[in-house]
Amino acid sequence: MPDVAVVGSGPNGLAAAVVMARAGLKVHVYEAADQLGGGSRTSQVIEEGHWHDICSAVHPMALASPFFRAFELAQRVDLQLPPVQFGSPLDGGRSALAYRSLDRTTDELGRDGRAYRRLLAPLVRRIDGVVQTTSDQLLRVPGDPLAAAILGLRTFEQGSPLWNLRFRGDRAPALISGVAAHVVGRLPSLSGAGAGLLLNALAHSGGWPIPVGGSSAIADAMAKDIEAHGGVLQTGFRVTSLAELEPAKAVLLDVAPPALARIAGSRLPASYRRALESFRFGNGACKVDFILSGPVPWTAAGLAEAGTVHVGGTRGEMAEAEHAVSRGRHPERPYVLVSQPSVVDPGRAPKGRHILWTYCHVPSGSTVDMGEAVMNQLERFAPGFRDLVLRHKVTTAAELAAYNENYIGGDFSAGLLDPRGLIQRPVVSPVPWRTPARGVYLCSSSTPPGPGVTGMPGFRAAKYALNDMFGLDVPALGL
Ligand SMILES: Cc1cc2nc3c(=O)[nH]c(=O)nc-3n(C[C@H](O)[C@H](O)[C@H](O)COP(=O)(O)OP(=O)(O)OC[C@H]3O[C@@H](n4cnc5c(N)ncnc54)[C@H](O)[C@@H]3O)c2cc1C
Repeated sequence: MPDVAVVGSGPNGLAAAVVMARAGLKVHVYEAADQLGGGSRTSQVIEEGHWHDICSAVHPMALASPFFRAFELAQRVDLQLPPVQFGSPLDGGRSALAYRSLDRTTDELGRDGRAYRRLLAPLVRRIDGVVQTTSDQLLRVPGDPLAAAILGLRTFEQGSPLWNLRFRGDRAPALISGVAAHVVGRLPSLSGAGAGLLLNALAHSGGWPIPVGGSSAIADAMAKDIEAHGGVLQTGFRVTSLAELEPAKAVLLDVAPPALARIAGSRLPASYRRALESFRFGNGACKVDFILSGPVPWTAAGLAEAGTVHVGGTRGEMAEAEHAVSRGRHPERPYVLVSQPSVVDPGRAPKGRHILWTYCHVPSGSTVDMGEAVMNQLERFAPGFRDLVLRHKVTTAAELAAYNENYIGGDFSAGLLDPRGLIQRPVVSPVPWRTPARGVYLCSSSTPPGPGVTGMPGFRAAKYALNDMFGLDVPALGL
């Protein structure tokens, strides 16, 4: 009989299982899909020999997250940094590029270089405090109050109509908004600015690495560690009720809040169940994967070396596209997130071929194929792109939701990311990972600190479960 059952093997379920197994407990992980990893899976979805990340692709938090640091992920997975961390193309063959070196970035940004430096440098200098602040609950007193204050002030500026005040040109704003727009929702927004500034600062500290072999390498490293510590990993087992599990003292669920309500049922008070059932989700994403016969022919120099490219034009154009999505429309010129894994990991495709990972935001539950709109945007900044497309595969928001039931309506953030959605995750509580049912914990990204492959929601849930149910502290997690 296991001590601990974990439902769902996304990065957070696996992080929770690592912590519990390392504490010497018997752990059993149940995963609905045939492959472990949730949003950290890599497969040959289009053609054999071509490895596509289905969900996550780029991993700044693989180096920065307190959980992954303790787990020494960087020594278990080959995390490669591209020469250019990310960039934004602009019309006229221009671009804005973020290098790991802040100096080089600001030098190349021209007249807004100094303004960009003044915005980012204080965050880069206190990056550990910034990561610590954003890796916990928003309501908690931050460990580094100065870092939190610096981040807070800048978030209010970049998340408000004041966002253009310090800039005169369009390159630095495009660079910053390209990152802020990772958070699905209107621009400017506080949550977009906060998350964007964190990710921006990470580019100039650890960088934005891409795992060799794909994102599944991260899930595989955790799975290996769980098995090495006696854990059992079971795929193809969709849990619909706690009664289906072998009895365990603690159950940690890497699921969306409405699923927790269904699975735990009457073990939860009705008022808590209602809160879970009315949890708010955000808009979705439409994914478009490509097999190309050559690298993307970007007009602007430098983008060919970027791991990530934010394709959406100026800050104003990105805001317009995101505004359309928030009003339930499909933008003609969407903001497109592009990852070029071939830059650091040519083994993802046979010699001479490249894979390209893209997605854009769409209204919740959308069944619209955004393939043409995405290709038009790429063609706009990389003429000749279409001629290189050998095959492509579209996954609509509705299909994304079917692929992973945590992504309700295609919302891969597992919950709306407005300020209320960040605090009420899934309820306002000093320990939101703990549910009212003794021994039952929520460990998905519907708990703080929210989405991304960070392992932090799972790590925090496991910490409380260890303490409450077994009287244990978090064990050593390193190699
Ligand atoms: C297109 C896309 C691009 C992304 N890009 C990035 C990126 O570049 N970098 C980044 O850091 N993040 C990215 N993300 C976000 C990241 O993938 C998620 O935030 C992260 O995977 C959340 O982890 P999780 O463990 O909370 O849940 P998930 O990864 O969603 O995993 C949940 C798991 O639980 C399983 N499950 C659910 N219900 C049950 C049940 N009842 N019984 C059994 N199993 C169940 C699911 O099958 C799934 O495997 C992206 C996501 C998407 C979709």
